[in-house]
Amino acid sequence: MRPRRLLALAILVLPAAAPAAPPVTTVLRCGRLLDGRGGVRDNVSVVVEGERIKSLGAEAPSGARVIDLSRATCLPGLIDAHTHVLLQGDITAADYDEQLLKQSIPYRAIQATVSARRAIEQGFTSIRDLETEGAMYADVDLKVAIERGVIPGPRMFVSTRAMAPTGMYPLSGYSWELKVPEGVQIVDGPDAIRKAVREQVKYGADWIKFYADRRYYTGKDGALHSWANFTDEEAKALVDEAHRIGHRVAAHAMAREGILSALNAGVDTIEHGYGLDDETIDMMVKKGVFWCPTIYVGVFVAEGRARAGAPIWLQMVEFEKQAFAKALRKGVKIAYGTDAGGYAWTENQAKEFAYMVRYGMTPMQAIQSATISAADLLERSADFGVVEPGQFADIVAVAGDPLRDITELERVRFVMKGGTIYRNEK
Ligand SMILES: [Zn+2]
Repeated sequence: MRPRRLLALAILVLPAAAPAAPPVTTVLRCGRLLDGRGGVRDNVSVVVEGERIKSLGAEAPSGARVIDLSRATCLPGLIDAHTHVLLQGDITAADYDEQLLKQSIPYRAIQATVSARRAIEQGFTSIRDLETEGAMYADVDLKVAIERGVIPGPRMFVSTRAMAPTGMYPLSGYSWELKVPEGVQIVDGPDAIRKAVREQVKYGADWIKFYADRRYYTGKDGALHSWANFTDEEAKALVDEAHRIGHRVAAHAMAREGILSALNAGVDTIEHGYGLDDETIDMMVKKGVFWCPTIYVGVFVAEGRARAGAPIWLQMVEFEKQAFAKALRKGVKIAYGTDAGGYAWTENQAKEFAYMVRYGMTPMQAIQSATISAADLLERSADFGVVEPGQFADIVAVAGDPLRDITELERVRFVMKGGTIYRNEK
């Protein structure tokens, strides 16, 4: 045993002793730079050494590779805080069931590599992927493959399987004689929930996600209501266990009952939140909870779901519009989240920006929701979200002025992540 171990040690030590190659220096000459903090500067050179930004405004060091973006607007790499790379659109239950019943997890993972490539090519250098919809831990494998350079894609923050109690998440409606796949990890009772949190973290979950509500309806009071999925005791056990072992929690919470359940349990982010009202908005501000509004997916699925027998989705678009205006006025921390995968990845996930502006944000606020604010949600603002020395060189560029026309972000021409160029079109 002993000689073999010594040999293994020697092999491990040798590569570290080899001299490291000097980091590659690249200079981006930006005609205009939006730094992510609200600053706008013209004619800035961004010096990138290795995977990080070394300096701004400096002259190009000799021998550096120069990228001419002098007729473009540069900004921090975009961040989408709510995606599903393993899902390819689910307007109706039939779309969803088809993927879980007829596609193997390896097949879905192959499709997800295409989703991840689309995300980075569209300028999204980081994503928080909020559950695999029955594809188990395949998101962890994708994340690792991207980190190792096997496939192109954004930095991924993953939540693996998500959780809901028995009978409260698809697939449903099949004969009791059939064992059909589950879209989430089914958990009941505080002990089982704590165990599931530990299990998901063990296999690579960065975030824990749960479904706080279902069965959305308009109440006699005219507000959007729902049925909460977990008991308060269960929801609190879930959040407590995740926080106890150093992980944050995202809650799918569409309407009042789900939002209250999630906020009382102490979650870190509310997903969708279409039925946010004055009381729940005030609670979010007080607790510093982030909101990912996912506007575009609601608009995208509304008609199809109404045709399939759920007309409430048409009203939900209107509820969210009102909630957005209120939340913006009261200062809720809003982070860009699209639910891409809830609509097909052939749609551009940057379409959310135009809705945010239409619903009341300035273009600068919308851009910041997808840069500095989303980085803050991920607790990674020391690494990305702004263009500053020391940050990862996650930088995108568009040809026009996104402060005048926010849809410019749907036409990203240049993408750099960690100093590597993923797209560069004249
Ligand atoms: Zn989602």
